[in-house]
Amino acid sequence: MPSLIDKDHKPMIHLGISEPEGKQQVVSDPFIHRRQRHHYLWANVLPFACTIAAFALLPVFPVGWPEGIAFLVMWAISGLGLTAGFHRLFAHNSYTAGPHIRSALAVAGSMGAVGNLTSWVAIHRRHHHFADREGDIHSPNLRGPRWRDKLRGFQYAYSTWMFEHPYPNPAYYVPDIIRNPHLCRISRRYPLWVFLGVAIPAVACALTRTSWSGLVSGFLWGGMVRLFVLQQGTSWINSFCHLFGSRRFDTDDLSRNIGCLAPFVFGESWHNNHHAFPGSASFGLRWYCIDPGFWFIRIISLLGLAGDITVPNQKQIEARTV
Ligand SMILES: [Zn+2]
Ligand SMILES: [Zn+2]
Repeated sequence: MPSLIDKDHKPMIHLGISEPEGKQQVVSDPFIHRRQRHHYLWANVLPFACTIAAFALLPVFPVGWPEGIAFLVMWAISGLGLTAGFHRLFAHNSYTAGPHIRSALAVAGSMGAVGNLTSWVAIHRRHHHFADREGDIHSPNLRGPRWRDKLRGFQYAYSTWMFEHPYPNPAYYVPDIIRNPHLCRISRRYPLWVFLGVAIPAVACALTRTSWSGLVSGFLWGGMVRLFVLQQGTSWINSFCHLFGSRRFDTDDLSRNIGCLAPFVFGESWHNNHHAFPGSASFGLRWYCIDPGFWFIRIISLLGLAGDITVPNQKQIEARTV
């Protein structure tokens, strides 16, 4: 039974996985760094450039209801895949789900173009392992005390860490995923899922508008602009939620809650709550806190597609409240 609290900085403890002995924790290799730079260019810079193009081309490819729906549907699918799948299910095992829903969430999360399942979960578990200490791959708080250092830290945590960083060893951080051939297959086919995430809204808009211009506007708004917007949410969590906001719980890191961001990041911005209880499926931890990722998990559990949802009880919450 996973424990709720990650108090010993051991990424595997709250997952019920024994820590692999004698395994290298991170790998720094020129080939891996080259792959990371390529990924940054096509998964981050390209959506940004296409977003500028989408606005510049509005007179030629105007936005109507097909593009709006394509944007919202693909944003919800990839966002829920990331928060309910990559994060709460695969990284933290905060609930259980059958093989079909696991596969669907792994594919949906991959459509967010934030790295394949194996890499994302490994990087995220290392973030919890060393949160805001030397070794945390994307902390904004390791550059020094001056405001210029803080600004550099913010820029690093927001975006540039992705350009090149030490790669967490999957054998150390994600032994549970690399032992699962089905999840490995989904993870290896990551470029295909990203392509489908862009191609599906493009084709849907082309068919709805019965025109080639629909293909372009669907690609831009349901594909590229949606990727850009979704990835800003991930960057807000990595940067703002370790710099600004409130601390409900006493944790060994500098994580913060920013409630006003919650509707736009599927509840992920209850980040101090999450660092205090990484094994909890609920990030809001109060009924009135907006947490769409948790609402989604509750809905699929009511449909019989998920179970064993872990949430802390009142006593556990009070024991850690500041
Ligand atoms: Zn964090
Ligand atoms: Zn986490």
